[in-house]
Amino acid sequence: MKDAFDTVVVGAGPAGLMAAIAAAGKNAKVLLLEKMEKPARKLRITGKGRCNITNSRQEDEFLTNIFPDSRFFKPAFKNFSNTDLVKFLNGTGLDTVEERGGRIFPASQRSWDVAETLVKEAEKKATVLCRAKVVKLFVEQNRVNGLCYEHHGQQINISARAVIVATGGLAYPLTGSTGDGYEWARRAGHEIVSPRPSLTGLELADYEPIRFGLKNIELSLLVDGGTVQKEFGEMEFTEYGIDGPVVLKISRNAVNAVSENKKTAVRINFKPALNRQQLLNRIDREILSPPNGQVADLLRKMLPSPLITPFIKKTKISATGKLPELKYSDRENIINGLSSMQYAVSGFRSFNEAIVTAGGVSLQEINPKTMCSKLIDNLFFAGEIINLDANTGGYNLQIAFSTGWMAGINAGKL
Ligand SMILES: Cc1cc2nc3c(=O)[nH]c(=O)nc-3n(C[C@H](O)[C@H](O)[C@H](O)COP(=O)(O)OP(=O)(O)OC[C@H]3O[C@@H](n4cnc5c(N)ncnc54)[C@H](O)[C@@H]3O)c2cc1C
Repeated sequence: MKDAFDTVVVGAGPAGLMAAIAAAGKNAKVLLLEKMEKPARKLRITGKGRCNITNSRQEDEFLTNIFPDSRFFKPAFKNFSNTDLVKFLNGTGLDTVEERGGRIFPASQRSWDVAETLVKEAEKKATVLCRAKVVKLFVEQNRVNGLCYEHHGQQINISARAVIVATGGLAYPLTGSTGDGYEWARRAGHEIVSPRPSLTGLELADYEPIRFGLKNIELSLLVDGGTVQKEFGEMEFTEYGIDGPVVLKISRNAVNAVSENKKTAVRINFKPALNRQQLLNRIDREILSPPNGQVADLLRKMLPSPLITPFIKKTKISATGKLPELKYSDRENIINGLSSMQYAVSGFRSFNEAIVTAGGVSLQEINPKTMCSKLIDNLFFAGEIINLDANTGGYNLQIAFSTGWMAGINAGKL
């Protein structure tokens, strides 16, 4: 085996970079291997190029955004919290700003700057090698003795006192996140909770494509007929179905339900500020003025114009009917369409478009206080490879940074 390092970190995303920095801080000789030509490709495109680094919310509220079990994340968050992360970044010269909803961004508004800051910090303290694709871990009798990586067409074996796997999940595979670490973890005896796309768009059945964004709507997720989640905010109709902030919020539960072949539907309330009686009063007022208006005139006052034709088709009401002749059943159809337009969910957008991966290395087999495997004495996990994911708002990057830090300081001590 080639020169020995104390700690070898696999994957130079946010989790791996932070793990390398933390391990080097414990005086370990650290090697960080990245298979792409540049570290942190995904980090460079986060937050639409602005990078929502973390969220300023207090611990209790912060943890409500972490799934499937936020208790696992608590020790890592306590050890390296959102405020610790901001202090750390500010200490390196990267200023940050807080925006609506507690979301923290770099003051420069450039995710590239966050990536470069972390890479520079890692390079000061560790050896960072790109175009170095790890292909195998050498695991024997509950220990990982080293690994094999490919570099410029050569296979190189290297020994290590500790290995940190931070290879990410399967979302946005073009950035290098192709799930390589799952197979190594599985071979080492770990259970992999089936990886699924999360924070992703939903495909609708019986849907005529339109492209239109809406604000202040209420979106409900129905599974086997029961409402399991309700969210309020912005949404977009797309060529395949729906996307946007409220859709991403319900996508985790929707993807699970569809994957389990459960009857899954969404219900859109276009007028959440009005109850049925208020909608009825509004329609009655419109029937009286102007006296000879048509149903389409009424809809034009209540909905944005791109939605009118799809609304009429979906509710099967007659658009040219005169308002004063509006039948009771059509009035009911309009109210139902406005307050609870329902579509069956036929699928979800793939890993190519999803923002994160839900699923990964089972939480039961990782020590939450160290990020060390409970099965292999000197093998650590950090970041999205772990069965942890979160809502949008900076929470996913905090998972990567906190678990990376925790893995780094503990691996670096070995
Ligand atoms: C478009 C987009 C926008 C996002 N925006 C935000 C945001 O604003 N805020 C937020 O909190 N989260 C955001 N996320 C989610 C966030 O980027 C991820 O959760 C985070 O990057 C996960 O970090 P990680 O280090 O665990 O994995 P990754 O970032 O996936 O990094 C893993 C690294 O491992 C490398 N690797 C993989 N296999 C090997 C191998 N065999 N050998 C060597 N190296 C390997 C990969 O090339 C990659 O560089 C966004 C995600 C996407 C896709």
